[in-house]
Amino acid sequence: MNEDALVVTPQQEHALTEWSGAADRGLRARTERGKIIGRVLEEGVHYGTIPGTQKPTLYKPGAEAVCDSLNLYPDYESVGNLEDFEKGVFFYRYRCRLKQRGSDAVVSTGIGSCNSMEERYRWRKAERTCPTCSKPAIIKGKAEYGGGFVCFKKKGGCGAKFKDADPAILEQPAGRVPNDDPYTLINTIDKMAQKRALVAAALNLGFSQQFTQDAEDLGAQAGTHDQPPPPPAEEHPPAARPPKSDGEAHHEKDETIISAAQIKRLWAKAYSATETKEQAQEVVGAAIGGYGYEKTSEIRTVHYDPICKAIEP
Ligand SMILES: [Zn+2]
Repeated sequence: MNEDALVVTPQQEHALTEWSGAADRGLRARTERGKIIGRVLEEGVHYGTIPGTQKPTLYKPGAEAVCDSLNLYPDYESVGNLEDFEKGVFFYRYRCRLKQRGSDAVVSTGIGSCNSMEERYRWRKAERTCPTCSKPAIIKGKAEYGGGFVCFKKKGGCGAKFKDADPAILEQPAGRVPNDDPYTLINTIDKMAQKRALVAAALNLGFSQQFTQDAEDLGAQAGTHDQPPPPPAEEHPPAARPPKSDGEAHHEKDETIISAAQIKRLWAKAYSATETKEQAQEVVGAAIGGYGYEKTSEIRTVHYDPICKAIEP
């Protein structure tokens, strides 16, 4: 046995005490974080799991709730931007510092950026307008009511009906078209950069084990932003196709209502795609309205995926 191994110098002893102290503090901090998640954060409102992702996503309201509970406030500093009014390209990057109220000590920092060439800002959804009343309320008629197109009253339309092949409808572009007006989005893009910086700073408080950054950033990592756009015209929502009529099984499936978990997921997508609760409600309302629904609890399984697609940025 080596006697020397048992000799602990005062310096080593000090270091060991420091380490175990640090370990204790780390453990306590972890317990505190667990408590915050349990007490302050509500699933579906502050965070949610988006299909295809492993970890729940921390939303902006969640980041704000974490800050409130720890008595922190965000302080934003611009760390780069680009504004090209000629080309319509806008880019903003911020550093968010989370500071302790009172002492103003910086507790955490995070960087976030946003630009107008991102998928969700680069394109806009072209809406067909009614040849009769000129309202952008044209939706695909339900197959059981004879298909075609309807100027949807619930979207403020006049109720006029049009045939499937009516050129007055079909010749109008629908679906994704390049956004010819990025200028009205400047404030949104700027705010989104701050939102991302805030969420990053909140995650850097030690929550990155439990949560991930916004799912939109996962999309960026997967390279979806670089994919060529689908052809802009003649893009019908999947529900526009008549349902398959090969047997009762399909018909039965058509009538199934989506589950509570699916409703939650749908809202999670909407929250992640927007800034405020009102915007999320607006996005969901528009998406489900296109399929003739007023409430998410009415959505049939067959329409779930296309509605999710419509909500996604
Ligand atoms: Zn109309």
